[in-house]
Amino acid sequence: MSETNSVSRVVIVGAGQAGGEVAGELRKQGYTGAITLVGEEEQIPYKRPPLSKGFLAGSVTEEQLYVSPRAKLEQLGIEFIGNARVEKIDRSRKLVVLADGRELPYDKLALTTGGRARMLTLAGADKPNVLPLRSIADVKKLQPLCVAGQRAVVIGGGFIGLETAAVMLKLGLHVTVLEGLPRVLARVTAPEVSAFFERMHREAGVDLRTGVQISHLEGEAEVSAVVLADGSRIAADFIIVGIGVVTNTELASEAGLTVDNGIVVDEYARSSDPDIVAAGDCSNHPSQFAGRRIRLESVQNAMEQGRIAARTILGKGEAYQNVPWFWSDQYDLKLQMVGLSTGYDQLVLRGDPATQRNFAAFYLQAGKLIAADTVSRPAEFMLAKKWVAEGAVLDPAQLADESIALKTLVPIAA
Ligand SMILES: Cc1cc2nc3c(=O)[nH]c(=O)nc-3n(C[C@H](O)[C@H](O)[C@H](O)COP(=O)(O)OP(=O)(O)OC[C@H]3O[C@@H](n4cnc5c(N)ncnc54)[C@H](O)[C@@H]3O)c2cc1C
Repeated sequence: MSETNSVSRVVIVGAGQAGGEVAGELRKQGYTGAITLVGEEEQIPYKRPPLSKGFLAGSVTEEQLYVSPRAKLEQLGIEFIGNARVEKIDRSRKLVVLADGRELPYDKLALTTGGRARMLTLAGADKPNVLPLRSIADVKKLQPLCVAGQRAVVIGGGFIGLETAAVMLKLGLHVTVLEGLPRVLARVTAPEVSAFFERMHREAGVDLRTGVQISHLEGEAEVSAVVLADGSRIAADFIIVGIGVVTNTELASEAGLTVDNGIVVDEYARSSDPDIVAAGDCSNHPSQFAGRRIRLESVQNAMEQGRIAARTILGKGEAYQNVPWFWSDQYDLKLQMVGLSTGYDQLVLRGDPATQRNFAAFYLQAGKLIAADTVSRPAEFMLAKKWVAEGAVLDPAQLADESIALKTLVPIAA
């Protein structure tokens, strides 16, 4: 990649995990010019995963969420403008316009605008006790409601819904989870893994209902019940909506950048404008691993692609090579996932998810390991991560055989 190194002003829109990473990596790479990090939220970059885990539970403080302390940003000479929304990118004048009219010129612009919580379109979904869970501000609204004995209804049986349900149950609330699809985590795991998590939640005391359709929300000033299509009525003190993310790509599309399920970037995180990079949840990148374009919602992607974007800004082009991985904590269970299971033709279970509390699920496609989910088996996850990255072909019978230590297995081919 050739690019002149005449960059002296970098503006980053979106002070989330990807934005923070771009800023930090620019300094790590020796860039001494101006960096301005603009964020709509008041906080400096912070980690979202604990929001539905330790932060909601009260075991993690707000300061512990910060990617690095505010003093570190100052020390690195990174200007942070919080509570500020970028309304427009003027590509011809190479500047961004903030909501208060301020203009920030750039030589290179990074878009790390992430996503926002998808909201229900049902009538009543705008009532004050119907809450998303995406930001520190969201959790601060939720925390005072999370009092033992309260009735919470979680709409959505994805990671955020299930993690939140687990925390609230431990806090002593009555928790109902409503999932429209026939099983939880349906988009990301095999039916056997979904069934495992359904069992864990039900055993813990969650009223978990799958394949349900919501008819309407009942209540005047606040929602007091969720009514299902079959007529059943679930009384609620508050509702949490965990039905996915809408990417913040409007800024990019209004500026004429190519957007298609995220801001379209190349393997160097460059958008359709060579002076604008994009990274994290808001971007759609070509994945060598997947053999197609993908958009990921994970910390690992936000950080690794953020670093690639920073290097591209400095003309130190390096292609993004990424094997996706993800984790989720629910109760004492640690789910770790690697690869993309879409298109698997054989599932090999190591351990029995129907009776045990830990196991591994290996997803094979024509014999090749394309993905794995492990529950509370960190050592097996590390091996799976390596094999998935290598595209290893393993003997399914040996993979399933718990009498053979996984680390002694040798791939048939890689
Ligand atoms: C509750 C929760 C739990 C999660 N748990 C996990 C987990 O266990 N493991 C995992 O890997 N991932 C997890 N994730 C996902 C992970 O947090 C995201 O993938 C990651 O935060 C993406 O980072 P990002 O910087 O791309 O986007 P974001 O974190 O969404 O940050 C983007 C920022 O840009 C700001 N912004 C947007 N538009 C503008 C604008 N026009 N002007 C100014 N600012 C703007 C937004 O307000 C936001 O602050 C979780 C997410 C949530 C919400």
